[in-house]
Amino acid sequence: MNRNDCAALDAADPLASLREQFTLPAELIYLDGNSLGALPKAAALALQCATLQQWGDGLIRSWNDAGWIDLPNRLGDKIATLIGGKAGEVVCADSTSINLYKVLFAALQIQLAHAGGQTSTRNVVLSERENFPTDLYIAQSLCTQLGFELRLCESESVKQSMDSSTAVVMLTHVNYRSGAAHDMAQINAQAARAGALTVWDLAHSAGAMPIGLHADGADFAVGCGYKYLNGGPGAPAFVWAHPKHHARLAQPLTGWLGHAQPFDFAAQYQPAAGVQRLVCGTPPVLSMVALDCGVDTLLAAQPFGGMPALRQKSLALTQLFMQLLRARCAQYGVRIVTPMTEHRGSHVSFAIDGELDRYAVMQAVIARGVIGDFRAGGTPADGLLRFGFAPLYNRFEDVWLAVDAIADVLQNASWNDARYLSRATVT
Ligand SMILES: *Cc1c(COP(=O)(O)O)cnc(C)c1O
Repeated sequence: MNRNDCAALDAADPLASLREQFTLPAELIYLDGNSLGALPKAAALALQCATLQQWGDGLIRSWNDAGWIDLPNRLGDKIATLIGGKAGEVVCADSTSINLYKVLFAALQIQLAHAGGQTSTRNVVLSERENFPTDLYIAQSLCTQLGFELRLCESESVKQSMDSSTAVVMLTHVNYRSGAAHDMAQINAQAARAGALTVWDLAHSAGAMPIGLHADGADFAVGCGYKYLNGGPGAPAFVWAHPKHHARLAQPLTGWLGHAQPFDFAAQYQPAAGVQRLVCGTPPVLSMVALDCGVDTLLAAQPFGGMPALRQKSLALTQLFMQLLRARCAQYGVRIVTPMTEHRGSHVSFAIDGELDRYAVMQAVIARGVIGDFRAGGTPADGLLRFGFAPLYNRFEDVWLAVDAIADVLQNASWNDARYLSRATVT
């Protein structure tokens, strides 16, 4: 496989034209859409309209006239189509961390109610040690507040770790470091047998692969707007609850826009029906306008086969990257940690063995015009270089050029330069 072969794959790629939806700097190879998706051309225009016309001229009238007030629901319905949910089951709100707090609370309340409000023996929230830190921090706080125990297991032993004490299994579908994907259907089935509820974080899978929340029997899910959904920096997140839980959905942040009749301005809280009660306060309209454009870039793949077609391309891109890395960089100590099997998301991470600063290697690769990122681990030996492949806009030729840059940096040790060795705040 050489550069021309990769260019030929792009020429034959039925999804190639979807890249034109984005503004991407020429000459830059962007492989970090798993951390911040690229800018949709439509977002810049929509933001201009939302500010100058809707805000500038429409002013307060735009809450009704421009449909601002329903944006969290309309956007939620669109996102539902990407994750195997149905209309009316997803709302867009707050951040992933906050939504996780809300649904984990709701799930624990359901289990407490099941036990008649008594301290029950079903008192464990099960998660994995390698989960994204914010998910663990949120769970730590809630467990302390509600008297549950947060129990962490290894990624491979989730199913074996469930028992009659498990109240909730809280997992991230695709691991942010390794890129390994859990088998959602199997874990949900096992949880149901054990009497536990499941809460899924789709941050690294929504928009990257088909997800079947209903088909796979999930209970709750949250996800991120600024990664593969291309919603822009700090985009709002989304939250899904299975309709069987809607009637008894207790959320801890009982704000006015989750009230059944917010404009009655009643003194007493009365939850709205369904997931609307998961909304707390006023939606960040400008951010949601941008996220709406980001989600539309994924819906634009529908005529080409939608998420299944994007998934096929994603697997082909990551497989090619791993093959080329092994062929050209194994000699420099590159050790891929992402599974070669299809139990992976859309990013690939690797360690580099030997006496070198992996953070500096990534900085030197970035200086060569290929953007990935670095994810520290518990020790320097755990730090990983991570490259994300967004099937909407990444090309097979990008894969070739990225491996070429990595090989060049490792061969010439060009990472060993003071410019690359000092850590920035965001890695
Ligand atoms: C990116 C990410 C988040 C981000 O949470 P914020 O509240 O948006 O900062 C949470 N969980 C996982 C697993 C992530 O990958």
